[in-house]
Formats: sequence, structure tokens, C-alpha cells
Amino acid sequence: PYREETSKDARYLEVVAVRKSFRGATVMDGMNFRMRKGELVSLLGPSGCGKTTLLRIIAGLVVADEGDVVLGSRNITDLPAHKRNVSVVFQNYALFPHLSVAENVAFGLKARGRTRAEAEGPVRDALKLVRMETYADKPIAGLSGGQQQRIAVARALVVKPDLLLLDEPFSALDRKLRETMQVELKSLLRDSGTTAIFVTHDQEEALSVSDRIAVMNAGRIEQFASPSTLYARPETPFVMDFVGLSLRLHGRAARTGDDHVAVETAHGIVRTAARLEDGEPAIVGVRPELVRAYRASDVPREPSGRNRIEVTLEDVMILGSKTMLHGRSEGSERLVCELAGIQSQYVRGQRIVLDWAIEDTLAYGAAA
Ligand code: ATP
Repeated sequence: PYREETSKDARYLEVVAVRKSFRGATVMDGMNFRMRKGELVSLLGPSGCGKTTLLRIIAGLVVADEGDVVLGSRNITDLPAHKRNVSVVFQNYALFPHLSVAENVAFGLKARGRTRAEAEGPVRDALKLVRMETYADKPIAGLSGGQQQRIAVARALVVKPDLLLLDEPFSALDRKLRETMQVELKSLLRDSGTTAIFVTHDQEEALSVSDRIAVMNAGRIEQFASPSTLYARPETPFVMDFVGLSLRLHGRAARTGDDHVAVETAHGIVRTAARLEDGEPAIVGVRPELVRAYRASDVPREPSGRNRIEVTLEDVMILGSKTMLHGRSEGSERLVCELAGIQSQYVRGQRIVLDWAIEDTLAYGAAA
């Protein structure tokens, strides 16, 4: 369902009809990807879906079998990596342990023929950007993981790249530090006006750092949209499942009314405003925080415009800021409801009614 944007403004980086196979196994075929100048876009998807391959093709570290890469107004398809003015930050930092912080940051400038004196100002600015200016003369060896990753980012930015590529840059850091780095990265890229692509398999990381996210599956982009659109309006069941949690049921479209379709599921009828063919197998879903829960003994009178299913509580998870209710289900159904705060009135084995608006119901036919 992914449709490319075609406006001129959207074409700062263009990947056009790229094909790549490794030893006869096709990893991507007809990949198209476009982004704007100054954007921070994440490539999000499960292991093996081709995120790193796409990044490496853009960087010039992997050669595509077919297709083009255009950056700014240059077709860089046949340029070697070091002539693309594209910087890459890797997960393992790849710093030089025998050089100081400043020497590491200056490395790219030296490689481009700048003298030590010419490099001094830009190195200081880059270190300031990552808030490490007081570490200039320190050895790399004594730095923490988070500090080393900041130096790797400074080294990538000092050459003023046309494009910055980050390949799971924070996955070696602990959760707290990773969250701090995400916030810092976002603001320093905005401050420096850098266009960047961020590879991650962590959906929360993608949602928190990105202007837009390309959700990838098996070498294809399933949806390319802002975090809020991806979450509220996932276009495929894969995107619904990969980005955020959802209550999910399988069924069959039964009757199509004027403004909604009834889907018959093992837990009863679920109505949706989505378009489905009569008799078509379908998946319906809803985000768990849009679901209300009632004990089966005190359900209010049924309001119109809402779906209701009755389930047995399998598990109650009190997480402090929220409480997750999990219903008992068969097969691949997921019956989950998220309530704000601590809700200790629910217990395992209870019968409860889950209730949500028809308009919040996501639905996908067999073709999606
Ligand atoms: P991960 O999150 O695990 O890094 P990914 O989405 O980045 O995954 P890629 O690393 O791009 O995925 O790999 C996509 C597919 O291409 C995988 O099936 C992988 O095994 C294969 N692949 C990637 N690089 C090579 C290579 N150099 N030789 C052979 N196969 C490769």
C-alpha cells in the first residue's frame, strides 16, 4: 500500500527501483524510497527485513544489482563511499582506541586534506554539539559507552555530511542512556539541520526520534508515515502488529451496511467502518488504550456506535502508570485492554466486557 511522494520537495534523497540479491537470494526488488532535506527518517522492521542493506546501498558500502541513488542533485549510484559526503555511525562506534577524542573527531577532516589548524574550529564545534568539549584531549579508552557514541556522532557530523546514516547506534547502551541519547540526537540533528536515516528494530525508539518512519517487511516498505499516522492508521496488519500493541481478532465479513461492516469473530460480531467484501476473511483490531473494560455483572446499557465482546480475564498486569488486562483467547487472537493508573478491581478468571468505538476499529481484508 506504500505510495511514494512525488513532490519535488520530497526528493532530496531518492532510492529508485533498487534490486539486491546475495548469492541468488533476493533481499529487495524494486525498492523506492524518498525523503526531504532536514528530515530524520527511521527504517523500522524485524531482523532480516533489509534495513541495513538499504542503508549500506545508500552509503555505498554495498553495491545494488539495479537501480539508482540520487542525493541532492547528484546521481551517486556509481560513486565510491568516500566520495558521497555521507557519514555513517555504527552500533559499535568504530573509534580509534589509540587516538584522543579530538583526533578521532578530526579524522574525517584530515582524510579530506585539512590541516590540524583548519580542523581545530570544526572539531571544537562538533564536540560542543554533543556536549563533550571538555574531553577533547582525553583518550578514548576511558570513556563510557554513551560518551563513545557521542564522539562517534561528532566524528560523523564534523565533515558536514549531506546525509547522516545511523545503524542501530544506541543498541549497545542501557535503556535509560538510550532514551537520553535519543532526545539529544533529535535536538542536535535539528540544530545542525542534518538530514538523517536511523535504522532500528525498536518501535519505541523509532516513534520517539523520527519525523517519519518507513516500516519494512521482507525487503519492502509497508508504510511510510509520521509516528502518529502509523500508530492511529496502520495500513496493513503487519504495521498494526509491529508498531504498538493492539487487540486483534480474526473473522469473516458478514453483512455490509451503509456505513459499517459486521465481522463475525469467535467472540461475537465486531463492526467496522473499513471497506470489506461480503464473505471476505478479515482481521480486526483496536489500540488497547481505546478499549474500556466492565465487569460482566455491571455493564452499562449499550450505547450505539460501540463494539462489545465478553472475555475471561487471563492476566492482570499492574504497571503503575497503567494496568493491562489480557483476555483468554484461542489461537492467534489477542485480547488486550490498557487502563490508566492502578486498577486493582480486576482479577484473573473474572468475566469482563471489552468495549470500544466502531470508528476506532481497524480492519483488513484478506488482500491486505
Ligand atoms: P538486522 O536487524 O538483523 O540487522 P536487517 O533488517 O538490517 O536485519 P539486513 O542485514 O539488511 O537486514 O539483511 C537482509 C537479508 O540479507 C538477510 O536475509 C541477510 O541474511 C541477507 N544479507 C545481508 N547481507 C548479506 C551478505 N553480505 N551476504 C549474504 N547475505 C546477506
